[in-house]
Amino acid sequence: MLTADELESRREEINAGGDLGRLYERLLQRAGPVLERMPPVPDTKALLTANGGVCPEDGTRLEFNPWSPRDHRCPRCERQFSGARHDAAWAHYQHLWLAERAAHLATLGVLGERDNAARRAEQLLQAYRSYSEFPNRDNVLGPSRLFFSTYLESIWLGNYLTAAILLREAGRLGEDTAEIVASIADESAALIGEFDEGLSNRQTWHNAALASVAVWFEDEELATRVIEGPSGIVAHLLHGFGADGMWFEGDNYHLFALRGQLLAMRWAQQAGVSMLADPRLSERVAAALRAPALTALPDFTFPARKDSRFGVSLAQPMYLELWEVGLARLRETEDTADELWDWLGRLYLSPAPPAQTFDSYLQEAGEAAPLHPRTRADLSWWPLLEMLPSVPEQTPAWSPGSTFLEGQGLAVLRRGNRYVSLECGPLGGGHGHADRLNLLVHAEGEYWLPDFGTGSYVARDLFWYRSTLAHNAPRLGGESQPTGDAVCDNFEHSGEWAWTRGHFGELTRSIVAGPSYILDVVELAGADDRLLELPLHLSGAVEVQSLGRWEPDDVPDEFVRQVERLGHEPAPVVLRACGEAGVSLGVHLVADGDLLRAIGPGAPGSSEPRSFLIRRARGQNLRFVTVLEPSRGQPLIGAVRVIDSAIEVETMAGVDRHLATVEGWEVRTPSGVVRLRGGRQQPRAFQPLVQLDRPVPTRGIAVQIGDPPELNGTTDGFDPSEPLQLDHDDQYRRSEDPYAGPEEFSAQAYVNWNDDGLYLAVQVFKADVHPRDPSTPPLQLDNEPDEIHADGIQVYVRLPGQETMSGWLIVPSTVNGELIVRPVSNCMNEGARVSGSWQPTGQGYTVTAAIVPAGWTPPGPEEEVGFDLLVNQTVPGRMRRAGQLVWSGGGGWVWLRGDRQDPGRLGILEVR
Ligand SMILES: [Zn+2]
Ligand SMILES: [Zn+2]
Repeated sequence: MLTADELESRREEINAGGDLGRLYERLLQRAGPVLERMPPVPDTKALLTANGGVCPEDGTRLEFNPWSPRDHRCPRCERQFSGARHDAAWAHYQHLWLAERAAHLATLGVLGERDNAARRAEQLLQAYRSYSEFPNRDNVLGPSRLFFSTYLESIWLGNYLTAAILLREAGRLGEDTAEIVASIADESAALIGEFDEGLSNRQTWHNAALASVAVWFEDEELATRVIEGPSGIVAHLLHGFGADGMWFEGDNYHLFALRGQLLAMRWAQQAGVSMLADPRLSERVAAALRAPALTALPDFTFPARKDSRFGVSLAQPMYLELWEVGLARLRETEDTADELWDWLGRLYLSPAPPAQTFDSYLQEAGEAAPLHPRTRADLSWWPLLEMLPSVPEQTPAWSPGSTFLEGQGLAVLRRGNRYVSLECGPLGGGHGHADRLNLLVHAEGEYWLPDFGTGSYVARDLFWYRSTLAHNAPRLGGESQPTGDAVCDNFEHSGEWAWTRGHFGELTRSIVAGPSYILDVVELAGADDRLLELPLHLSGAVEVQSLGRWEPDDVPDEFVRQVERLGHEPAPVVLRACGEAGVSLGVHLVADGDLLRAIGPGAPGSSEPRSFLIRRARGQNLRFVTVLEPSRGQPLIGAVRVIDSAIEVETMAGVDRHLATVEGWEVRTPSGVVRLRGGRQQPRAFQPLVQLDRPVPTRGIAVQIGDPPELNGTTDGFDPSEPLQLDHDDQYRRSEDPYAGPEEFSAQAYVNWNDDGLYLAVQVFKADVHPRDPSTPPLQLDNEPDEIHADGIQVYVRLPGQETMSGWLIVPSTVNGELIVRPVSNCMNEGARVSGSWQPTGQGYTVTAAIVPAGWTPPGPEEEVGFDLLVNQTVPGRMRRAGQLVWSGGGGWVWLRGDRQDPGRLGILEVR
């Protein structure tokens, strides 16, 4: 990370004492246990499973203790657990922690000329001499030997090579160690280089790892490709971080991607490319450092928008380092972002959070929680190489105020310690939630209307946290919002007032924030009667101050229970949510509909369910008006009234009359008229970095027959004149290995039909057949159906005129030639029927099935049916499927696809 000359001058700065001297001493102290004895090195690959590393009693993540490879403690119930799955989960963090320690010790060895640290760092490098024996299989997202996903391998390799390169620069790397390092760098880089993820938070880490490999081998060609290539370091800086500086996948991935990005840029610098010399790039780095400070909640946690952990403080040591390193680098440029030094200072002064377990930061693992706020001396090896020796003096104060983040479509209305945000803008890729027009409120120290972020990716409740009902966002028709982008139409702040308005399809939400209260208006303007629901996840103890009785009601949802409706007179409902230390939030609900309350999951990681409210109404033109009044003492609002199109809020000071106007919003207050406008240009549509061209759809023919075929696991009775072939390289979705060819794995299918439905015969050619034993205990790998990891097929049908497809996972059973049939989630399967059987053939197996899709009517002449057939491939010795053949083609990777198929990819069956 630093050249020999740079190391020499850094040594002098550390020897001068100050913050760097203190950080050095603290790092030396922290290294004590590892210097004392060699830590355990896992001899197994890390595995991601639903039950590994998780308390079987309460679902809490088991503590990661680098010194305890076999016994794993639950921090909640304090019991110890053991077993291979827990060990494999432990290995995930241990591999990462060891590479981090290697970098840590090498830094001490080189900068402090500590022989014992340099020697231990070298031992840690040598400990991976059997790297190539770790199996590259059963991965979840991309090839990897030590882990289950490529990005983890990338994080690991970056730290591993940091240690090796530092030692080499200081002349402390033995030749035999250098040989081990070279062979690992070579092999690991091949895996990482093969799995290009395009524009992705993970790709920033792949770029960092590949750039470190380029530095290790002094490979200029690789360096150029990693820096300038289409998914390289420059592309990620300019396209991954929006003009507002925020990463397109939200705060959590912003912080993760920014660390990868800053590390990658450091390696690029060592390879001779100084990106910050280009003002466009340094500006973007400054914006990326500013963005999370702009969206931070008043308690210095980040709002858990999209897939994010909930309630994580930006004062985590991992995040403090982003500003230390980033701001230090910007000092050399025009955009110094100097006001962020004050922001960073406030983070240091805020209560120190216990360090969380992060893939990219494990320095405090196994240590006790800090007793005092962290200082600059409590950081890791990285700032020892890069941070300024002292914080610059007389920098401007940080005062964020109300702000609009263009790329995120996020409006933040701030006043004192009150924070209100409305989220419009794009969904945000695969980590986005169905939460457009979500409202967050944090005031008087309480997160009154929170965003819960996401818990575990392998747990069932992932579907809850990504649903609309888990947010303070409106939904229509009793279903989560469809995938799509919302648009912010207005944003303006003027004196004591601020407002914003956004729309999402037929829904509009206006938020007006004044000196003492927040007005929230959700409107539906549609052509048909729709069911509109608006959940409100209020924190604190909620009291209903209106008269009325709760009566049983229903909101059909897997995660929601004990639904009740408040039976009351048609008058406003007033609630009060009471928080800590006498603060409260008054909630006035006016206008259309019913008020429901229900129990749903609590914040991720809490096993406590939590009560929440839902406003509900049906109609064409609907309006929900809510006034929220956070207060520390006596509330000021007397009443809220809706009179025609005006909304009146009566306070101690008089009546505020709110009215939507042509250009925006008007508030007539006792002291004058406030006009809010701030109309916005429609933003340009988000352009992904890698544009996938829609191919011409694959075509086939479904032949009409008279009598149904035998359906006995042979092609008896089928018309075989129009076979569908699955035997081409382009039809194979691979995992670790590419397509081995049709001799190893291929399929041929016949689709016939008559008035009663479709008939499908699939002949699969492969060496070993693994039917599924229905009594097998669950694999507990993740939240996907286990049957995708067995031999079997996935079938998707979209009849003429249908918008939604039907889909099934159909798997040979060990019992009597039967089929195990599972409807695919998110498909329309009501009233659909599948029956049939299978037989082994000596060259593989044949599945035959009668399929009556939902809404089946015999297609007319010349009509076309959307269709796809996928064949999963199991291979002996693996837990997860090796790949799948896809009739419609397209190639690509099989990872994370579950039992789903993109409806836009379906091929076409001509009906004859
Ligand atoms: Zn437990
Ligand atoms: Zn969310």
